[in-house]
Amino acid sequence: MRMLSTRGGAASGPSLAILRGLADDGGLYVPESFPSFTLREIESLQEMDYAGRAFAVLSRFLPDFDEPSLRAAIAGAYGTGFDAPEIAPVRAVGGWAHMLELWHGPTLAFKDMALQLLPHLLTYSARKHGETREVFILVATSGDTGKAALEGFLDVPGTRCCVFYPREGVSRAQRLQMVTTRGGNTHVIAVEGNFDDAQTGVKRIFSDPDFAREMDAQGRVLSSANSINYGRLVPQIVYYFSAYADLLSRGAIRPGDAVNFCVPTGNFGDILAADYARMAGLPVGRLICASNENNVLTDFITTGVYTVRGRAFHKTTSPSMDILISSNLERLLFDLCGCDGARVTALMGDLSREGRYAIDGGMLGALQARYAAGYADQSAVRAEIARAWREDGCLMDTHTAVASAVLRDYRARTGDDAPAVIVSTASAYKFGASVLEAIAGPDACDGLDDFACCDKLSALTGTRVPEQIASLPTLPVRHSAVCRREEMARAVLDAVR
Ligand SMILES: *Cc1c(COP(=O)(O)O)cnc(C)c1O
Repeated sequence: MRMLSTRGGAASGPSLAILRGLADDGGLYVPESFPSFTLREIESLQEMDYAGRAFAVLSRFLPDFDEPSLRAAIAGAYGTGFDAPEIAPVRAVGGWAHMLELWHGPTLAFKDMALQLLPHLLTYSARKHGETREVFILVATSGDTGKAALEGFLDVPGTRCCVFYPREGVSRAQRLQMVTTRGGNTHVIAVEGNFDDAQTGVKRIFSDPDFAREMDAQGRVLSSANSINYGRLVPQIVYYFSAYADLLSRGAIRPGDAVNFCVPTGNFGDILAADYARMAGLPVGRLICASNENNVLTDFITTGVYTVRGRAFHKTTSPSMDILISSNLERLLFDLCGCDGARVTALMGDLSREGRYAIDGGMLGALQARYAAGYADQSAVRAEIARAWREDGCLMDTHTAVASAVLRDYRARTGDDAPAVIVSTASAYKFGASVLEAIAGPDACDGLDDFACCDKLSALTGTRVPEQIASLPTLPVRHSAVCRREEMARAVLDAVR
């Protein structure tokens, strides 16, 4: 299987695409053609556990990985770090929909699904292509991705992971999650500044030839784990197949029935993986793209015009969806225009020059045949969390509630009552304060920190605070480095010395 660049550049195999991250021409790697699963093959997934399903799907998307290595990678990723044996369980909610829970990993959010596997895919790819240096992952985080990367790379041989977070920009729980990380190959450094400062600093390090030389002299090579890497996307295809198999098993659908998925969306990686599953033969009906107030994707899918110009950035209670430029959308554009790299290059040029682009009627038609969209603002999210708990006995986090509210809207608006799965991307306890306020009223968190809010939520709902959070205040702090914005490169070299 060859991989193409969305900007039209030269091809490579999947393993090289994972090793490189971004194509030389600045494009994203996409498969030239998709594997094709028969209905019988999809039905046979029912008899397998998650690791078996992952191998069945990934071996077809990563044909240049050998079987023992891929099986070992999967075993390393989806094991004891998860607190549910199904890894990605599907539950019925209130008889009107199903929920795919992607938050049973070490950091209680869906990014674990990919970041637990990526390090293994990366080290295999490095070996395969003769890269003997240690793969050095550098991440700037506004909170959640950094911890998911640290947990994924933790003690994976041949890798090292260094995370920068803004000293004033993360919650106490998020900071504790990061600075208590174990492992002999993890580094966490606070930057005096905001998230943009941290991100700009990391980008500067990536383009600094002196830094690259210094790393090379130490036997290290710099790499990134961000969401445009093909190795982040493919693990996410698996759970759509797995969810379909689970619905078959419990008789909720018959083989071949189309299923709608409603996905809380930020960078467009999660929902695009569902589209890739569809292109590989999974019977998917409509993909419903759910946004919060940062609803640039709702407008795009409704009108064909993507515009960030003049759009305010909203900080919401679903922070992982507070995004204005959805990087993975470029992969969908490439598909919608018939793999025309010049066309995608022109659209991306419009976006960086003018802060907007418009697709033509043909592309818009193709887009709307597959996708629907909607958004829920913060008061709708609060109401949905309260309603879901009261009526369905279902405790949902703020991101999941965006999707749940949007799906209910979509159904009322369109009458499309095909079987539907809400993709649940975080544990309610990861955003315990917002969830508590939604259920118990605006004053419920007064005077309480994140941990006390979780305890109160637990007492109120009779559900358990996950161990990953409950244990945090008592874990030893292992990382205390702080640096100024202009000293980030130095701080990395000091950390690894
Ligand atoms: C990252 C994230 C999302 C958005 O996923 P994308 O792949 O960026 O669209 C939604 N919910 C949670 C909890 C997340 O961490």
